[in-house]
Amino acid sequence: MRPFTRTEFLKMLGAGALASAFPARAGLASPRMESAKAAAKALRIRDVEIYYWDIPFKEPLTIALGTITETNGVLIRVLTDAGIVGLGESCPFAPVTGDTQQTNIDVARDLRESLKGKDPLAIESAGRTIGTFGRSNPCIVAAFDMALYDILGQAAGLPVFRLLGGDRTTFETDATTGIDTPEKMARSAREHVAAGFRALKVKIGQDPDTDVARLQAIRDAVGPGPALRLDANQGYTVPQALYALRRMEKLDIQFCEQPVVRTDISGLRQVREASPIAIMADESLFSPVDAIRLVKEEACDYFNIKLMKCGGIANAVKISTIGEAANIRCMLGCNSETRLGLTAAGHVLGAQSNIFYADLDAFLALGIDPIAGGMTVKNGTATLPETPGLGAVVDPAFLKKLKKA
Ligand SMILES: [Mg+2]
Repeated sequence: MRPFTRTEFLKMLGAGALASAFPARAGLASPRMESAKAAAKALRIRDVEIYYWDIPFKEPLTIALGTITETNGVLIRVLTDAGIVGLGESCPFAPVTGDTQQTNIDVARDLRESLKGKDPLAIESAGRTIGTFGRSNPCIVAAFDMALYDILGQAAGLPVFRLLGGDRTTFETDATTGIDTPEKMARSAREHVAAGFRALKVKIGQDPDTDVARLQAIRDAVGPGPALRLDANQGYTVPQALYALRRMEKLDIQFCEQPVVRTDISGLRQVREASPIAIMADESLFSPVDAIRLVKEEACDYFNIKLMKCGGIANAVKISTIGEAANIRCMLGCNSETRLGLTAAGHVLGAQSNIFYADLDAFLALGIDPIAGGMTVKNGTATLPETPGLGAVVDPAFLKKLKKA
């Protein structure tokens, strides 16, 4: 093995980007590491740019909560005085997260004022400022959180998943089929399998009998190989959930997300206790506090973590850790983010061994992909970028056309 160069060594120490960003002091008697440390100390948030986008879906997606035709997100660019820029995306879905693009923009303006002049690397401190908005606007909190991790990773010269101690560069993600006729859903599932996906997520929760017919058609179409995951999006009552899941047992279902309304934790537990299919909490799980409650009440077998529900990377790691301590395996899911938000989620997955499943296929539904770099998905396998920070940027031509708030 050849010896490390000084630059490589600094990178290992987590000061690579800053060391090379401040070459003027590199020649001093103190090593570049000292200048990098000084630069990191001096790093300050100069301003935050707020943009928003409305990206139409390729085709409408129907779930138990309604039909979605476009994603309405907010992009923030956190500018530092050292020239490092951190990116974050919010993807509100009001029926679940309770916030909207407009409320996210309003809160982003407030957060911009409270973060100006602050140290972007002090994520724990910043979390106390931005986290207070997590109950009302978790999606924009997530956007700020991921932007700060983007800056931290760039300052350290490490991709975020390595910064968090991870080394998993690839993982499998599923692909989603929305609610439709059994025939159309079977065709969609077959197309996903043909595209290389080995796990399929199927939306249900409108009518138990038709849902059983839908799953039967899909299993017949794809054969015994692909894993089938269900998502009822709160659509069933407890008796409906048990009726449907018992009839689906023979179809080899991996788990079912959120069969009952999010506030009914005892109902979730009742389904879990009597269902032959494992139960995953999604809409009932926003924060680490929710995770503790679900553990205490023994209400689910799995957690579905989403950055847009929990307010970003820091809380996602906490929920995964709570799950690990309770022997509850996690999935990393999404709303309708572009590959920017999905890449941030992917970094968490790459760092957390208790996250066993990925549902990070939202970009497939969008009419355009405005992101350069970032996590890629090929034949159902996601690959994380090795670029420092999140490693994803908005295509400059697309950014130029965006409306600024
Ligand atoms: Mg779900």
